[in-house]
Amino acid sequence: MTQIVKMKGMNKHFGKLHVLKSIDLTVEQGEVVVIIGASGSGKSTLIRCVNGLEEYESGILEVDNHPLAPKAGNQKTLAEIRKGVGMVFQQFNLFPHLTVKKNIMLAPMKVKSASQVIANATAERLLERVGIGDQADKYPSQLSGGQQQRVAIARALAMEPKLMLFDEPTSALDPEMIGEVLDVMRELAKDGMTMMVVTHEMGFAREVADRVIYIHEGKIVEEGNPSEVFDNPQNERTQAFLSRVL
Ligand code: ADP
Ligand code: MG
Repeated sequence: MTQIVKMKGMNKHFGKLHVLKSIDLTVEQGEVVVIIGASGSGKSTLIRCVNGLEEYESGILEVDNHPLAPKAGNQKTLAEIRKGVGMVFQQFNLFPHLTVKKNIMLAPMKVKSASQVIANATAERLLERVGIGDQADKYPSQLSGGQQQRVAIARALAMEPKLMLFDEPTSALDPEMIGEVLDVMRELAKDGMTMMVVTHEMGFAREVADRVIYIHEGKIVEEGNPSEVFDNPQNERTQAFLSRVL
């Protein structure tokens, strides 16, 4: 097995606030790890550390065998890691002044020096894959939230990432659009993409996750396959959380 993410004894503070407490977590290639927990428990911080959007103070973090040192600094490593890690946020963060297709072409051309022809073909293929091939020439504001989020996923995929990070990708969507985004994620998982997903969609977690992690006040307090965590949680914090959300 190839480890794509390895965290060992990772700690992170925001000033006096100890947000990540000695996190041990590995993600194997092809694995889908879903992270659940209450608001403010450190889920976003955890996955933001993985592509260096947040620094941490102590412990070990390796992404695809690149060590990402605490207080990272090493911009070369960081750039290398980010090339291989796609991230999708709650807010789609598309470039409003670029068409859908151009949004997807930008990073491959800038970061990977892909030619216009190749980038264009990739964008068209990925837009088909996320089910919006017909929206290529529109601007983000002309799309529904669900469509915009699918563009964001296609944009991340254009870099051919080894790992995809999702931070509550459906939380900003109207309920009727959640399904279409989850469908795309489900397909990705089926195709073998390695994924770390923060979500409140427990149905999705149960169905798609290989492993579910419950984080409470910056600590992993429960971890297991979906049926272990959802049907038979061992930790009373997990039990209380699940009884609120299920
Ligand atoms: P979650 O994603 O589980 O809701 P976060 O990782 O966003 O939690 O936040 C964990 C804790 O860290 C919260 O108490 C939050 O207020 C705090 N926090 C998050 N980002 C920052 C920041 N940039 N500066 C200071 N505190 C932060
Ligand atoms: Mg969050």
